[in-house]
Amino acid sequence: MINNMFERVSQGQTANQGIMATILKHLPSETGVTKIEYEGPYIGLHTKTPRFLLEHQDLISQLVNSIKKRIVIRTDSSIRSSERATKQIIASICLSKDDISDFFFDPALGEVTIFVGDPNNFAMLSQNDIDLTEKTGWRMIFRRKPRNNRIYKSINEILSKRSTERILFYKQTGEKIFRPRLSRTTEANIVCLGGFNETGRSSILLITQESKVLLDFGMKVGNDENLNSLPRIESTGLKTEEIDGVIISHGHLGHSGALPLLFKYGYKGPIYCTEPTLPLMISSQRNYLQEQKNNSIYSKNEIDEVILHTIPVNLGSVTDISPDVRLMLTNSGHILGSSSMHLHIGNGDHNLVYTSDFKFGKTIALDNSVWNFPRVETLIIESTHGTRDDIFPLREEVENNLVNSINSTLASGGRILIPVPSLGLSQELCITLGMLNSVGKISPEMIFVEESILDLLDFYEIYSEYLSKYLKLRISGGEKDPLFTDALVPLEKRQESWSKCIVLATSADLLCGKAATLLKEISADITSKLIIVGNPLPLSPIFNIANGERSILLGKRKIQLECSVDVIKGFTDHSDYNQLLAYVSRLKPKLRKVITNHGPGNKCHTLATNLNKIFKISTQHPSVHESIKLL
Ligand SMILES: [Zn+2]
Repeated sequence: MINNMFERVSQGQTANQGIMATILKHLPSETGVTKIEYEGPYIGLHTKTPRFLLEHQDLISQLVNSIKKRIVIRTDSSIRSSERATKQIIASICLSKDDISDFFFDPALGEVTIFVGDPNNFAMLSQNDIDLTEKTGWRMIFRRKPRNNRIYKSINEILSKRSTERILFYKQTGEKIFRPRLSRTTEANIVCLGGFNETGRSSILLITQESKVLLDFGMKVGNDENLNSLPRIESTGLKTEEIDGVIISHGHLGHSGALPLLFKYGYKGPIYCTEPTLPLMISSQRNYLQEQKNNSIYSKNEIDEVILHTIPVNLGSVTDISPDVRLMLTNSGHILGSSSMHLHIGNGDHNLVYTSDFKFGKTIALDNSVWNFPRVETLIIESTHGTRDDIFPLREEVENNLVNSINSTLASGGRILIPVPSLGLSQELCITLGMLNSVGKISPEMIFVEESILDLLDFYEIYSEYLSKYLKLRISGGEKDPLFTDALVPLEKRQESWSKCIVLATSADLLCGKAATLLKEISADITSKLIIVGNPLPLSPIFNIANGERSILLGKRKIQLECSVDVIKGFTDHSDYNQLLAYVSRLKPKLRKVITNHGPGNKCHTLATNLNKIFKISTQHPSVHESIKLL
């Protein structure tokens, strides 16, 4: 037995050495490659003459096709100029010198990210990308300059300070991913750890013959009982060192909030997510920590570990994350950087899609969720709007309802308060209100937005390649205010009297936050209005108001609402019932099994029953703790 295993390991090692040999064989001497090294799921080619490889991307494509592994081009650290000299070289060719104030160096990857304000400067620098890499020895990443880069800066400082540690982590992660397979057969099971017949603490454990991977690791916020607010990983007996990787779909706490806890209990492995998801989830986790004060279940140090162990993955790229699991993240249309996961298990023996939160419909900020997967046998689909009651008007009608509701109040000189969650729907509303204002459909004196919402909106500017085609066209077309953010003013600048103004403030449930304070201000004013959008949390104050109650408890104070209240149905970043059915219908020919999750028990149950009746597919609506054999 031991001999057999040794033979298989030896074969595997030979296979890996074969990969390196194939790369070397295909590389002409002009490439100046000094080192070939694992970099997590990628193979890094380190070169002293980066121009050749950067100009011969066809060579890289051929290599990728032949070794079936992703390759990244890195500069040899010996050719990198000092940070000061690099800044001077870049500034020397800039059209406007004071346009660039931010340089973020990452020594572990040899990359420098530069925030550029002037679109002409941006275009000019991007065109000279290879020249600048050759002159400085750093790979260039140009990004649109945001209003504020506080969060981005703090993350980069941690990444930069701990570069040596990260280089070692990438190498060790690569060695684990590309370790030889021990078995030729493939098995796959999932264990439901959280977010089944409930919302929040989303997490699934995928177990195959060779690997154990977590899909999301969220928490229920506002639930004091730890066991019921966290994924039930302890019930599986799984040790943190046995986990090969964690994949995070998006930055909401319900999907990524418990991640630091894994590091508290000894996890040292990789986290995979899209590039924007990293700052968004870190920001959510830090806010949670701040709100909890001394009651938090994790500390700042563990959030820093999340930053260090995250490996960004591009949408649409197939990436090895273990010897028998390949991952492809696809746009899920829910919030910036949100993704569904396509997992290719074994040699294509089974294909699993986990939608996570997704919107199968367009919004102003994001495109429709991707649906055209090459193969899907099992689908795990969210059920937030899983019953026939959850059919909403089309976007155009929803927008018209919002416009009418706003205008009727502005006409009578009233104030408008819209409570929102800090991430997702709030940025969608910022851009929508900005757009409606720019085309003259609404004309408030001011649109005030809470600073924390604007901070996250900055990431919509930074990672603009993740936005809808509509917004990307506005950016590439050189529009002066492409994301319609010029009209948005930080709430902190609000005057004492804010009549004829709109305010977007957190939190969405009115349990706490600025929105609750502001509601007290307008509650007695019959000319003002509270506009309710999104999905109110059952039994929260806003849920009760949406259902007609006008005497409510805000904090410790009972208030009587004299202001008017409008509920705008359909402003949601989840798919409605019809969109859920339309999505399954597109996948139907190859589907063998559908599993519903993320919704109260009745929604998960109803959706599973209806999908079974309509599409004649086997469906299940498991609860937390249940496991399901996929293969
Ligand atoms: Zn979400």
